[in-house]
Amino acid sequence: MKARAFAYARPQTLAEAHAAFAEADGDASYISGGQSLVPALAMRLQAPRQIIDLAGIAQMRGIGVEDGVLRLGALTRHVDALRHPLIATHAPLLAQAAPFVAHPAIRNRGTLGGSVSLADPASEFPAMMLAMGASMEISSPEGLRLVPADDYFQDLYQTALEPGDILVALHIPCAQPGHRCAFDELARRRGDYAMVGAGIMALMDGDMVADMRIACFSVAATPVRARNAEGALIGQRLEAESIAAAQRALDEDLDPPDDAQISPSMRRHLARVLLGRLLQRLEATP
Ligand SMILES: Cc1cc2nc3c(=O)[nH]c(=O)nc-3n(C[C@H](O)[C@H](O)[C@H](O)COP(=O)(O)OP(=O)(O)OC[C@H]3O[C@@H](n4cnc5c(N)ncnc54)[C@H](O)[C@@H]3O)c2cc1C
Repeated sequence: MKARAFAYARPQTLAEAHAAFAEADGDASYISGGQSLVPALAMRLQAPRQIIDLAGIAQMRGIGVEDGVLRLGALTRHVDALRHPLIATHAPLLAQAAPFVAHPAIRNRGTLGGSVSLADPASEFPAMMLAMGASMEISSPEGLRLVPADDYFQDLYQTALEPGDILVALHIPCAQPGHRCAFDELARRRGDYAMVGAGIMALMDGDMVADMRIACFSVAATPVRARNAEGALIGQRLEAESIAAAQRALDEDLDPPDDAQISPSMRRHLARVLLGRLLQRLEATP
């Protein structure tokens, strides 16, 4: 199939983009890397009369650090998460997750903002925003606002983005010397969406866990914080006993849906196995 005919606009500012959206009476889609939108247009799952290309908006570009926060313009591409030195230094969890996202051709075009806007529950980057405690910089005609990841993901493909809102940038607290992180996922084939995945940011005080955020994906309609598992580890050493307690506590965090491919009990089992591996990896990290 081919996409329905549409009008195309390439605004240079956020204000122009909002005006274009309003002029189309909301019958419009923003496009960033196009790696999810273009297939959806081609299959006519979406058929807006106006496409608004965000690529010309300078405010949505750039990677920089200010006051202990890494700001990634929403147009930052997946491949930058793999290669950019500031991301490797200040958001190493994102760098660890990047090779698991799709394939090189898609990573060369796909943007972090597109991925976090779409908020596919099986996607790596949205869940890592939750694990890193990031905030989303969102533009509406009324101005800019910052929404913490804990409030951003609301339901299946539903986020704090209202119709016409634009995700402008991701604000990630810079990793500190005491931070350790780990990412992994279980997928049938490399590059496939995961059956279960997770990322962890742990703040260590010597060999004790001072703070920890665990985010799981492909386990529910949104990425999920494993707060019970976190609670089982904070104030503890990473060792066999506390890891086993966290794996048990994870059951309280997850209520996976039944689907044609994986039963809820299998998904819970895979999540426990994955969490155990990640925590052992953290334990072994100097
Ligand atoms: C074969 C294949 C395999 C893939 N595998 C994976 C995978 O393993 N893991 C994974 O996470 N992803 C995967 N993807 C998805 C890929 O990472 C997408 O590129 C990404 O999810 C969307 O980014 P994009 O920049 O291409 O967004 P687009 O396709 O341009 O847009 C996606 C959606 O977000 C909206 N949007 C885009 N940018 C903004 C913005 N700044 N503000 C508001 N709304 C916006 C668009 O209107 C659209 O609805 C795969 C895609 C393909 C085709």
